[in-house]
Amino acid sequence: MKPVPFEYERPHSLKAACQLLADDEDAVIIAGGQTLIPMLAMRLARPSRLVDISRIDGLSGIEEQTDNITVGCMTRHAEVERSPVIASHVPLLSAAMPWVGHAPIRVRGTIGGSIANADPSAEVPLVLVTLDGTITLSNATGSRTIPARSFFSGPMMTEIQPGECLTAADFPVWQHSRTGIGFREIAKRHGDFAMVAASAQVSVDATGKCIACAIGIGGVTDTPLALPELASSLVGTAFTDQSVHDAAKAATDNLSAMSDPQTSPEYRKRAATKLIADALMAARNDALETSEGVTT
Ligand SMILES: Cc1cc2nc3c(=O)[nH]c(=O)nc-3n(C[C@H](O)[C@H](O)[C@H](O)COP(=O)(O)OP(=O)(O)OC[C@H]3O[C@@H](n4cnc5c(N)ncnc54)[C@H](O)[C@@H]3O)c2cc1C
Repeated sequence: MKPVPFEYERPHSLKAACQLLADDEDAVIIAGGQTLIPMLAMRLARPSRLVDISRIDGLSGIEEQTDNITVGCMTRHAEVERSPVIASHVPLLSAAMPWVGHAPIRVRGTIGGSIANADPSAEVPLVLVTLDGTITLSNATGSRTIPARSFFSGPMMTEIQPGECLTAADFPVWQHSRTGIGFREIAKRHGDFAMVAASAQVSVDATGKCIACAIGIGGVTDTPLALPELASSLVGTAFTDQSVHDAAKAATDNLSAMSDPQTSPEYRKRAATKLIADALMAARNDALETSEGVTT
């Protein structure tokens, strides 16, 4: 099948791109095209116009700030995957990247596209929500920053307003000296979207007691979901397999899990309990082994 006819624009400024989007509510951004092009080919997307943002200066790159790392929307997955800055300061994102599709997809796919596309199983949104990061949205007249935890409103739905482009994501950097990460995922085949995924970051003190914790799940509910109450309940404790499993089970028991013909809500919740517990224990063990952690 061929796409329905559309116009194509490749502006050289963010302002011009946002104006094109504001002038035509059926216009859409094309970034890496790894999701949009198949959607066009299957006629699941029928935009009037593609606004290609790949030639706009300043939208790509990884920048160190004081307490976070800013990743520009056009930064390719492969660049993030290989970045020593990300590996050192946001290791949870490094650990998640190899799970994003296949290597050729990561060469073209972008961080902004992955977040804007808002697939409930996508790894980059999961890490951003887990770490309580922020998202910058720009239009022709200015920009605003919103917490990632308020950005996703449903499957493939976000708070992006007409005329806006997602320009960057900020991933918080933890300063604790003993910090570790754990990322776990179940998919039918490696490279497929996750059925269920869990990401965790844990800091411990010299005695091994948890002093900071973040945990999130993807593929279970219709948006990536942080579990701050579960995380808080573990701070001040020394993890055991049983305590972490019990806390994970309590956190997933009342979730309203998605269902599809292959995966029941009950399966998703059972898998989430196991992956949360595994990710937390992996993060805690990683933290214990770390002497320098993820400090700047
Ligand atoms: C076979 C296959 C397997 C995949 N597996 C996974 C996987 O396991 N995990 C995963 O996370 N992803 C997976 N993907 C998706 C891949 O990660 C895409 O790269 C990503 O979802 C979209 O990024 P993109 O840059 O290609 O965006 P595009 O395809 O160009 O755009 C996707 C959507 O986002 C919008 N958009 C893009 N950029 C912006 C922006 N800056 N501001 C506002 N809106 C924007 C577009 O208008 C469009 O609606 C897979 C894709 C394929 C084809």
